[in-house]
Amino acid sequence: MTTGSSDLLDLVPARRGHFAYESGHHGDLWLDLDTLFVRPRRLQPHVAELASQLARHGLDAVCGPLVGGAFVAQAVAAQLDVAFCYSSLLRGSYRVPTALGSALAGRRVAVVDDVINAGSAVLGTAAAVREAGGHLSVFGALLVLGAPVDAGVPVEHLAALPNALWTIADCPLCRAGTPSTGRPPEPAAPAAATLSPPALVPRVLRAALAQSAERFTRNE
Ligand SMILES: [Zn+2]
Repeated sequence: MTTGSSDLLDLVPARRGHFAYESGHHGDLWLDLDTLFVRPRRLQPHVAELASQLARHGLDAVCGPLVGGAFVAQAVAAQLDVAFCYSSLLRGSYRVPTALGSALAGRRVAVVDDVINAGSAVLGTAAAVREAGGHLSVFGALLVLGAPVDAGVPVEHLAALPNALWTIADCPLCRAGTPSTGRPPEPAAPAAATLSPPALVPRVLRAALAQSAERFTRNE
């Protein structure tokens, strides 16, 4: 692992527990990935490092699954000055928007995610890229958790962490009766005085509606 990779891990708070992932698997590691994107300038050197690894594959386009994967894919595409495309999960399968998919036909495409764990997002995006006529050349990720995904193409990444990943039937934490959560509880909401104006609007509206309802009640 390079120095840059350990810096990358410093950007991602990690928690241990019993978690249910989007792929349907259970595991004992949760990374607060959203924090990666709070300071784009801090992420930029890692994006550049990943882009330089991906450049060896002679790419025409980079495609990433919404949300985090698309942020990284777009930054990598900008770094390489190639086309960008995103995929989104619709009714259980990843799709590429028709207008963007035409940029993939006959092109060498990297599928990039922020983190590859079970691989469901990159594998689903790869299927969407192929459906759009693109040639999948390589997977890319800032971080790979657990065993690398087997998709018949190389997986370029900056850092790797061990991660136990189980089907629900095989999950030892389920067997032990440990409660699982889809994601860790969010931090407590900030006090009203610290909310930004858009967040305050619904409260102001609710207060105004309550007042007018009270007036109606009194008038009746
Ligand atoms: Zn479990």
